[in-house]
Amino acid sequence: MKSRLLLSLIFLFPATCFAADDLFDIKPIADGVYAAIAMPAYKVNCNAAIIVLGDSVLVVDTHSKPSAARALIEQIKKLTPKPVKYVVNTHFHWDHYQGNEAYPSSWPAGVEIISSEATRQNIQRLGIPRIKNEIVTMPQEIANLKNDLEKASTADQKAAIQENLRQAEAYFGELKLMQITLPTMTFDRSLILRRGSRTVEILWLGRAHTDGDVFVFLPNEKVIVTGDALHGWTPFMGDSYPYEWIQTLDAAEKLDFHSVLGGHGDVMHGKLRFELWKQYFQDLMDRTAAVYAEGATLDEAKKTVSEFLTKKYAAQFDPNFPKSVTANVTKAYQVIAFPR
Ligand SMILES: [Zn+2]
Repeated sequence: MKSRLLLSLIFLFPATCFAADDLFDIKPIADGVYAAIAMPAYKVNCNAAIIVLGDSVLVVDTHSKPSAARALIEQIKKLTPKPVKYVVNTHFHWDHYQGNEAYPSSWPAGVEIISSEATRQNIQRLGIPRIKNEIVTMPQEIANLKNDLEKASTADQKAAIQENLRQAEAYFGELKLMQITLPTMTFDRSLILRRGSRTVEILWLGRAHTDGDVFVFLPNEKVIVTGDALHGWTPFMGDSYPYEWIQTLDAAEKLDFHSVLGGHGDVMHGKLRFELWKQYFQDLMDRTAAVYAEGATLDEAKKTVSEFLTKKYAAQFDPNFPKSVTANVTKAYQVIAFPR
């Protein structure tokens, strides 16, 4: 009886099973639609969405390195024999597009890599220099890890640093060989794919986390994929447009969906997270503008605004919030003091 129960559980939830060395936890979110939730890694990988179409598959985002995308491809092959014909890059950040090359090399017959035109340009203008810069800085990062390893006092600490070091060296190796693969199909506002019974709307709704973010919306399944415009961690704002981000989230929130897959963290439901992020950005900008108006220096703003935001929001974000919030206040201060 027990084994029968186990068997039927495996039958019911085949896709949630994963091997120890898998990089992604695959979770079905609608019929033929899966969230690939990235496991923690030294160099983070973003989540992916896997959307099975009539005769092919569309994947949203490709992680920080080709080997991670190839690992996901192996997991996709267990879900469906259909080839991946479409890849979407939600935006130009390293952990969302650096695995692109894995798809055309796995399906040489043809893969369209789709993004906004702004994202394609951002990869060329900013993404590629950042990769070159990282190739220069990685040896120091690896040296620091080796230094930390020597200083580690417990066996657990040693093992954790050893693992990070192994991942850092592997990442550096891939970075040097990376074949930067640009999107092959771009658009300004929206691109709608109709394949079999599936409709996939790829939408640019305004500037947000970057100037090129797209949302992938499945109107029939009521699923939205948000990249880093909305996710389960603390927002990274380095390349963002904070005031417009609020409006863009507002526009996305008006779509009719139940399930939300962000670029990081677990699958979310409903619209609460949209409300949280909008309120967070509003408070961040309002508080920073207020202390700036009173003559606060950047350091003073970082201290007072971060304290306020940490008290109000830390519990609703990831454990790194207190650190990330300081960077967000710096960004807010720059936007207010030096408007573009
Ligand atoms: Zn990002």
